[in-house]
Amino acid sequence: MSATPSSASPTLPPFDPGDPLGTDDLLTDEDRAVRDTLRQWAADRVLPHIAEWYEAGELPALRELTRELGSIGALGMSLTGYGCAGASAVQYGLACLELEAADSGIRSLVSVQGSLAMYAIWRFGSEEQKQRWLPAMAAGEVIGCFGLTEPDHGSDPAGMRTYAKRDGSDWVLNGRKMWITNGSVAGVAVVWARTDEGIRGFAVPTGSPGFSAPEIKHKWSLRASVTSELVMDDVRLPADAVLPGATGLRGPLSCLSHARYGIVWGSMGAARAAFESALEYARTREQFGRPIGGFQLTQAKLADMAVELHKGILLAHHLGRRMDAGRLRPEQVSFGKLNNVREAIEICRTARTILGANGISLEYPVMRHATNLESVLTYEGTVEMHQLVLGKALTGLDAFR
Ligand SMILES: Cc1cc2nc3c(=O)[nH]c(=O)nc-3n(C[C@H](O)[C@H](O)[C@H](O)COP(=O)(O)OP(=O)(O)OC[C@H]3O[C@@H](n4cnc5c(N)ncnc54)[C@H](O)[C@@H]3O)c2cc1C
Repeated sequence: MSATPSSASPTLPPFDPGDPLGTDDLLTDEDRAVRDTLRQWAADRVLPHIAEWYEAGELPALRELTRELGSIGALGMSLTGYGCAGASAVQYGLACLELEAADSGIRSLVSVQGSLAMYAIWRFGSEEQKQRWLPAMAAGEVIGCFGLTEPDHGSDPAGMRTYAKRDGSDWVLNGRKMWITNGSVAGVAVVWARTDEGIRGFAVPTGSPGFSAPEIKHKWSLRASVTSELVMDDVRLPADAVLPGATGLRGPLSCLSHARYGIVWGSMGAARAAFESALEYARTREQFGRPIGGFQLTQAKLADMAVELHKGILLAHHLGRRMDAGRLRPEQVSFGKLNNVREAIEICRTARTILGANGISLEYPVMRHATNLESVLTYEGTVEMHQLVLGKALTGLDAFR
């Protein structure tokens, strides 16, 4: 019996190169509607401009885009109440995938707003803090950032030096945070600081005297995303600026787990864009008298890319279902982030080879996605940190120190 596709029964659905495993079957109509809305928004509002923004290293329409993302329910999408959409984890993941298929910088804006800043306030904030910040953040009127990393403390945030000291009923905050997405454009910064009671989170209005957020320039990755330092010099905060529900590193780590989940999906969006670009190019670019997609070596690359891309999407979907069922463990998120970002970068690198010299041009999205993914590989836990998380879970032995 032949093993070629011609042996397929005529009653089978046709093979779809865009969805070779038929994973679309896993989605509900509502899931598809969310996906299509985000895909259309990105096609209309991001794709026509992204190469120009990337080259300039700017996101000039950032505030306008944020408000539009708010109006389509993409900010704090899987949170409930306070103007948030209350979408499922799978729907939030699909949104991340579609946004990152446009650019990782846009997905980062949404992840930091929803999964880090809003999630921290939603999960650990007082009712007053939630009422004050969340509806405006869900609408995109106020941008949030999340300050955990410091110049000397990245993978090991337990060593942080930023310190909040009580002064009467106030807090006085001193320290520096580094590599903070949305920092210079934020209206509220969720800042994690050492206190006499352990690590606490603070909702800091960025207009507070002593707070500044100089933008970090000269990045060769995530160029269409604002990245900043946070400088806190005797920032005086009222007693109610502290998030009452979080003491210790568990607070920020649970926010990171939520954001990493979005990256599991998002990275596959960047990979999909690179794959589609390479597939189209392989079909049309001719060398030695025929399309390069007709050469076995190119087909091997495309087949391997498609396998990793759609395995990654299946993995993301599986984790999404576990999250919706309240059964997703942080180690499983590490599994997904480790695999999907690593594979997404490999897919982009292979796509770049298929495009030859054109692969390095901003006329095509491939190199932009590849360089973006270098940041995604590092933030929200480096590859090595997720290997150590999994290594510890597998062996029961802690190799972090
Ligand atoms: C564009 C961008 C945006 C970011 N946005 C934010 C943000 O919004 N908020 C925020 O708080 N942070 C943000 N970050 C910071 C990011 O989370 C950190 O860069 C990341 O946690 C790694 O920290 P580090 O850069 O200090 O590297 P380091 O921790 O110094 O690590 C350097 C290298 O050493 C390895 N390493 C460290 N310890 C070990 C060990 N025990 N075993 C083996 N290898 C080890 C690491 O894996 C890495 O390869 C952002 C970063 C970037 C690039």
